[in-house]
This record gives sequence, structure tokens and C-alpha cells, in this order.
Amino acid sequence: MTKKLLLLSTGGTIASVVSDEGLAPGESGEELIKMLGRLEYDITVRDILELDSSNIQPEEWKIIAEAIYDHRNDYDGIVVSHGTDTMAYTASMLTFMLQHLNIPVVLTGSQVPMNVILSDAPDNLRLAFTAAANCAPGVYIAFNRKVMRGCRSVKVRTTAFDAFESVNVPPVGEVTSDGFSLKDHRIPESGECQLNTKIDTHVSLVKLFPGFDPALLHAMAKNGCHGIVIEAYGLGGMTSIRRNMVAAVGELIRNGIPIITTSQCLYERSDLTKYEVGRLALLEGAISARDMTSESAIAKLMWGLGQGMDVKAITNFFDMDVAGEVTLD
Ligand code: ASP
Repeated sequence: MTKKLLLLSTGGTIASVVSDEGLAPGESGEELIKMLGRLEYDITVRDILELDSSNIQPEEWKIIAEAIYDHRNDYDGIVVSHGTDTMAYTASMLTFMLQHLNIPVVLTGSQVPMNVILSDAPDNLRLAFTAAANCAPGVYIAFNRKVMRGCRSVKVRTTAFDAFESVNVPPVGEVTSDGFSLKDHRIPESGECQLNTKIDTHVSLVKLFPGFDPALLHAMAKNGCHGIVIEAYGLGGMTSIRRNMVAAVGELIRNGIPIITTSQCLYERSDLTKYEVGRLALLEGAISARDMTSESAIAKLMWGLGQGMDVKAITNFFDMDVAGEVTLD
């Protein structure tokens, strides 16, 4: 039977047109589909936003999550066309806002607008529809012949067609000369799909560098920051002499502000148990995000805080794998 798919269009380069002010979203979802030619699916289109993804923020995440939730029982899968710049954040947040999804939701975009000859948009959009028709329920990004779990995807290139990578887990699907192949991928536990868009946006993502003044962490807390993700060094080490980040982290945690550590290294895990500088942070209560992406860690923190979780509950929450975002030991 022909699969019924929904395209939710939100803007991005894929839908952009040249204007005097630079590239800006201007094509509707219907126009995107028209430029694709023949497709073997029954596709409905809804334009829900028309934004460069630099302007996609928590308010827009809610709009996208609600649109998916409202239509989850009417379609076999949903494709979300979206700018590439913040697509990994949106995909990560949708993973937490829409737990126990009952259908595949596939985000895609392009490096070159659809209306430009030789654009990567037609291939990406066709792949997204194929993934939406075939993948297990969950949130994915389809890009440059790869389908990746949304909460594991990172934009790693600004202009090349292979803009996204699946970090620390292999892609779930790919296109080869044999066609589209799906690897064994996680079939989520069944359960009613839950829409929960309560998040706390008073968080921060901080990249550590030699010379970072820990007073800045205190300034963030004083200005209403409720939780911080620190991109620390290597396995998760942070400065413990002179500009003592470890001490600042401990103080904030004792004041009820959870501190999550990810690594500045894109690949592999953060592990606070190996070095003294990591262990000290662990003793102060720092929470390791293990092999999560920073995009996913900040989304998980916002969502957890939005549920009213305190430091202890956030610690337990980061010890859980909600939808494939983390590899537990
Ligand atoms: N600035 C664009 C956006 O994220 C880039 C893109 O879509 O590739 O909306």
C-alpha cells in the first residue's frame, strides 16, 4: 500500500531564494515537492515556519513538536525540512519532547537551495521520505545518503555536502549502489507517545579554554542560569589550580545547579574517572554526559530541568538512555 507521509516545512537553505539581503527562506513545501518529480508516496505538505534555522529557538521547537504530535496517527512517517545550522539541536530536543514516538520523524535540509541546479536538496529530501517510510519509530536526520539518529547527529562542515556525522554510533541507514539499506537499529519500547514540551531555557553551554575565569560560571548562576553543560578537555578534565574550575563547579552544584560535562573531542566518550582532574570534578558532583553530543546534552538538561528535576534527579536522568542518545557502560 502506498505510504502516507507528511512534509512539515520550516525554512532553511533548502527553501531559500536569493534576495538583496542574502539567502532567505522563501519557497513553500509544495514548491519543494514540485521540484522533486515523481515520488512513490502519498505526500501531504504543511508549511509551519519559514525561518533560517539560526532563528529556530525553543518556541519553534514546541511548534514543530506539537505539529508532529497532532499528526502522528494520520501518517506513516513525517519529514521536517529545516535549516542545517541548528538541525542537530532541534532533532535532539524533539527526541526528548516526543518520547515513545510511534512513527519515524526525519529532518532534512541542504547546503544549496532546492531551486539551484545541482543542489543536494532533491537527494536529501528523497532520502528523508524513504527513511520516513521505512525506519523504525524515532527521530532521525537524513543527509548526503546517510540516515542518522537525530540525537547523535552533529553538523561538522559548513559548506560540503557531507555536512552531518553520526557521532559515536554508526548511521542507521545509507544509500549505496544497491539502493537504500537499513542497519539493525533500535526498535523503541512501545508505549503511548507523550508530548512534553516543558523545558527550562535558563541554561548555558560553556567551552573551557586555558585561562577561563571560573568567576564567569558564578556570574551565570547569579544571572539566573539553572544548569550548565561544560565542554571540558579530553575525557572531561577541567582546571584545578589557580583558575579553579573544579571548585566553582562544586560550589554551583551545592547551590542546586547541575553541571554536566561533555568533551571538546567530537568522538568517543567523556570519562571523569581516569585522571585526577576528572575525579576531583566527579567528587564535586559533576555529571558526565559520557558519549553524548553537546547538542543532545544541552537539550536533555533543558528538558530535565523543565520537569522540575533537582541536581540528584538530573544526575539519575543522565544515567538513563531515553532514546538512544547515550551509550551506558
Ligand atoms: N543558514 C541556513 C539555516 O540553517 C543554513 C542551511 O540551511 O544549510 O537555516
